[in-house]
Amino acid sequence: MRLTPVFLLSATDPSHFPAESRTHNAPEIAFLGRSNVGKSSLINALLGSKEAHTSSTPGRTRAINFFALHEGSGDKKKIRPTLIFADLPGYGYAKISKSISAEWPQFIEPYIAEREQLALCICLVDTNIPPQASDTQLIDFFKQTQRPYLVVGTKADRLSNNNLNKSIAALKQAHEIPEILPISAKTNAGIPQLWQRLTSLAE
Ligand code: GDP
Repeated sequence: MRLTPVFLLSATDPSHFPAESRTHNAPEIAFLGRSNVGKSSLINALLGSKEAHTSSTPGRTRAINFFALHEGSGDKKKIRPTLIFADLPGYGYAKISKSISAEWPQFIEPYIAEREQLALCICLVDTNIPPQASDTQLIDFFKQTQRPYLVVGTKADRLSNNNLNKSIAALKQAHEIPEILPISAKTNAGIPQLWQRLTSLAE
């Protein structure tokens, strides 16, 4: 499926969340991860464009940035989105934090827990560093709130096959999860498989 991305808006309050996903029955997919995990690189690899770079515009890094993905071209007001991407603020800057939410704006946890149209949360973990407690906290939050989630292992190109397998095994064990999809925004490894899973949500 070929889809064209359009930046919708930057939300800093639940009242800003876009209505498009509901009005067009478009599944919303959230992207979450520690700062520097490779989130904007992954979103760019998926969108095949530089759309996600808009999220590094000052003021947008503490916001949820929404993108509509639609078939064909058309102006922003008339598009019928097939999928919505929600790019959430990065976490993990503070060395010690009692909860992820201590660093996050107030509206992030309710977004994950309560957003009706949210079909899948993509949690990015770096395969090049040991398992991080802040990632475990987020994954535990998905489990508690019974949100569907998928953990993606980023920067897989930096490791040999053997070391990648070891890293994935360690991450699965630490986060107590059955699956991690390794990807590379640099070589595109795993990106078609991820895209397939995301578009299948819209079918
Ligand atoms: P974000 O803060 O999570 O949005 O992370 P970025 O996408 O900005 O990436 C952080 C750094 O990791 C940048 O220097 C990227 O070039 C690098 N990076 C991201 N994805 C990959 C990848 O798949 N492979 C490699 N080798 N580097 C990556």
